Amino acid sequence: MQTEASRKQLKIPLPYRYRRYMIYCCVAIIALALPFIQINGHQIFLLSFVHKELHLLGVVFSVQELYLMPFLLILLFVGIFFMTSLGGRIWCGWGCPQTMFRVIYRDGIETKLLGLRKRINDKQKKPDFSQTSNKLKKIIAMALFSLIALTAAANFLFFFVPPYEFFEYISNPADHKIVMGFWLGIATFLLFDATLLGENFCIYMCPYARVQSVLYDNDTIMAIYDPKRGGAVYAPDGSKNALAPKKQNAANECTNCVACVKVCPTHIDIRKGMQLECINCLECVDACTSVMAHYSRPSLVQWSSPNAVETSSKVRYFRLKTIAYIAFLSLIFVILLIVGSGKETMLLNIDRNTQAYEIRKSGAVDNYYTFLLQNTDSKEHQFYFEILDADELKVLEPTEPINIKAGSKVKKAVYIRVLSPLDTALEDKDLHKKIKIRAYAIDDENIFVERETYFVYPSKQEIKSANH
Ligand code: SF4
Ligand code: SF4
Repeated sequence: MQTEASRKQLKIPLPYRYRRYMIYCCVAIIALALPFIQINGHQIFLLSFVHKELHLLGVVFSVQELYLMPFLLILLFVGIFFMTSLGGRIWCGWGCPQTMFRVIYRDGIETKLLGLRKRINDKQKKPDFSQTSNKLKKIIAMALFSLIALTAAANFLFFFVPPYEFFEYISNPADHKIVMGFWLGIATFLLFDATLLGENFCIYMCPYARVQSVLYDNDTIMAIYDPKRGGAVYAPDGSKNALAPKKQNAANECTNCVACVKVCPTHIDIRKGMQLECINCLECVDACTSVMAHYSRPSLVQWSSPNAVETSSKVRYFRLKTIAYIAFLSLIFVILLIVGSGKETMLLNIDRNTQAYEIRKSGAVDNYYTFLLQNTDSKEHQFYFEILDADELKVLEPTEPINIKAGSKVKKAVYIRVLSPLDTALEDKDLHKKIKIRAYAIDDENIFVERETYFVYPSKQEIKSANH
């Protein structure tokens, strides 16, 4: 790769490698900072299994309220389909932690810091481990990366365990073996992945790589070699042509310098066409840009689409498929906002007891329920409830408002009585009458919830026989 001065002289644009590094820095800063940024005293995103809560943009949802989850999952999966259809494996090269960790470890620590590898531009050449000094360097490289792996694993867990709780757990690890186990387990995997497994993960294990090819079309943007300019290096059956491009035809531009092959982290030859192993890092584009700059020609490997290369036109970003994805994602996002804004500030589950009713000597009829009230607000409140549009029904128990702390739940036995059931009851069969319960915070009129249940009136015959 050229120096800044020679790049300017040869009019080479800023390499994609540097642009990727900038994106990596932004992603790392955002990922590290996000768990510590709070809105309304809550994390921007936290899925706490201990507290059974989802924090999203400062709003807390309890597990009973995870009706938002399907919308979030739809957004995630359709978003991935959209991104892949538009930009191929752009996530792999530009946003995936695996690729970032490999760049930090292989290019940063092994190559630049310790000189274990000779050049970033030659990723095919493995370090010579017959030398003791190189073995030692490998151990130092792994030790250095362990610190990054531990930090990254903790950062990942911060989206499931709030940071302040995590730091408390670290000070007392014996009492929090599961979280500590997850932390060390994830860090160990990251260490193994970045230092030993490498791009084999992308090639053989990553599930995303397996599905991406079906999402591609001829307008999907990817690293692509232009055989019209460069000359065919491979035959249509995938076998390599015996003659190099220039030997086939002097007008072919590919010099067969293999700079684009040597730099490839997944060890493929992009001149063979689109391959599943390509992670869209665009190192090959940078490599060929540098080579072709010496001939004042643009790179033979472009970040473009098959159609654009074939027809020498611009990439079609907006086409029926991508517009449909955008419309669908926008619709789901709007629904998510509407559903999310209708979040209830308290929850109420009503269970009827197995005994349907009890007829009192006075002629009154009681029904029994269990109410599960949950205060999903961030403050403590006192709750009570009323029966709507049924003046004949009275709440017998509880008689006092119920105090519930922020985020807590309380189970209460509730008795509802009708004094004159004969006014409503049917002659010879039980009547299940729908009733609406309104539970509310007595100190905040905005906090309330309405639920339906039913009240059982025994038949008139049964009431009369019970009173004789
Ligand atoms: S062919 Fe290799 S170097 Fe080029 S974008 Fe794909 S993975 Fe990167
Ligand atoms: S870097 Fe460019 S010129 Fe060199 S082999 Fe690759 S495509 Fe051909």
